[in-house]
Amino acid sequence: MTLLPVLRNIPLVSKLRKVVGLITGHSSLNRHLSIIGVTDSPLCRACMEENETPTHVMLECTGVTEQREIYLGSPATIPDVLSNLGGMLGFWNELGWLE
Ligand SMILES: [Zn+2]
Repeated sequence: MTLLPVLRNIPLVSKLRKVVGLITGHSSLNRHLSIIGVTDSPLCRACMEENETPTHVMLECTGVTEQREIYLGSPATIPDVLSNLGGMLGFWNELGWLE
């Protein structure tokens, strides 16, 4: 059995996995990890004030404001973020929280 050409490109698969995880909520962020019993706390590692969800980190968190402004500007909604996939992946790569 041969792999689809896209599956040979592991960096692309890794990026797609991150995007799907962020959209579905099944990512390595604390809110999800606490639901499945991997961590004790759902709180955001940057601000410790809200649950660490994709929406919180990409739109609201005051602990990652500088990185968000560099890669995403000032997005108001998740569709705003998803319209800039390169910026979104750069933002998460900079944080290193989805590795
Ligand atoms: Zn936060």
